[in-house]
Amino acid sequence: MKFATKVLHAGIEPDPSTGAIMTPIFQTSTYVQEAPGKNKGYEYARTDNPTRTVLQNNLAALENGKYGLCFASGLAATDAVIKLMNPGDEVLSSNDLYGGSYRIFTKVFERFGVKFKFIAMHEPGEIKKHITPKTKLIWLETPTNPMMNVIDIPAAVSSAKTVGAIVCVDNTFASPYLQNPLDMGADLVLHSVTKFIAGHSDVVMGAIVTSDEKLFDQLKFLQNACGGVPGPQDCFLVLRGVKTLHLRMERHCTNGATIANFLFGHPKIEKVYYPGLSNHPHHELAKNQMRGFGGMISFTLKGNQMEDALRLLSATRLFSLAESLGGVESLIGHPASMTHASIPKAERERGGLVDTLIRLSVGIEDAEDLIADLEQAIG
Ligand SMILES: *Cc1c(COP(=O)(O)O)cnc(C)c1O
Repeated sequence: MKFATKVLHAGIEPDPSTGAIMTPIFQTSTYVQEAPGKNKGYEYARTDNPTRTVLQNNLAALENGKYGLCFASGLAATDAVIKLMNPGDEVLSSNDLYGGSYRIFTKVFERFGVKFKFIAMHEPGEIKKHITPKTKLIWLETPTNPMMNVIDIPAAVSSAKTVGAIVCVDNTFASPYLQNPLDMGADLVLHSVTKFIAGHSDVVMGAIVTSDEKLFDQLKFLQNACGGVPGPQDCFLVLRGVKTLHLRMERHCTNGATIANFLFGHPKIEKVYYPGLSNHPHHELAKNQMRGFGGMISFTLKGNQMEDALRLLSATRLFSLAESLGGVESLIGHPASMTHASIPKAERERGGLVDTLIRLSVGIEDAEDLIADLEQAIG
């Protein structure tokens, strides 16, 4: 099946008891058993829920993987992946990543003896320089949040193989429509489903997809043992949202490109970070490993004055000032004080995340209206 067919049909069958074409919301905590140990495959809803099962199978198909697991949030999924580690194990991570990932790594898992190294993974050769026999996991986000660097997934996979480490790609920014890390050799792909997959800013959820049976068994165990599962109502909303993922992503991509070009040509804009621009340092790599460039753009204003950035952030009318991304409506954000405030300033600036950086999540509105809004806000 091709992508547009998969979002609608992969793993989804009419409900066998009624014929309902839409997967029902199984709002139940438990399942009646005929006799001890004799059941219909469902025992308790933390372990399994039919609405969740359908969504997990659908998401697995979208990432060309065998197994999917859904979690209560993207960070609950991240939590499960890092719990594959033991004290003393090393994780190599990109230094330009979602602030909440940095926070759970440094503030939670370092206390349990897992070691994290944050490196400029988009620089060729950096992984080889820092990988050691203790490295058990390479964690990367590409494109990165918010600097829009692109990391070479096959290169990370081949470095990981030299020490037997696994590779997990946070594919939230690209979505499975634009990039499939498992096809490039990654072991795990992780999503904040909250963003493009759900797409309507009404659900918080995470997911992991893999084709490795052993990793799946370990993660499935953690999903049940630690219990960070999503409710069936949220699974229903994501099943509903995902049906238009391909259509939404097409528009995110065309609007993203139009707005990146507008910003690039604007006399008051200093820098534009968008992998679809031909002068982006990783444009060729992005063309190789992605099928499009998405709707996430970061930029700075000329002069780099904090008051100019703050004024712009409050002046847009269609772009709403909010955390999050990937919804149908356009958002504008200030990473230094919002999504990335949990990363220390010195660490942020090492990766180029200055206090005046502005991030856009370009929605699916009419591009002309979005440009007019930015034009009046930039002034
Ligand atoms: C939002 C986000 C997360 C965390 O997901 P939640 O659903 O908010 O827990 C992880 N990675 C990236 C790239 C994100 O944008």
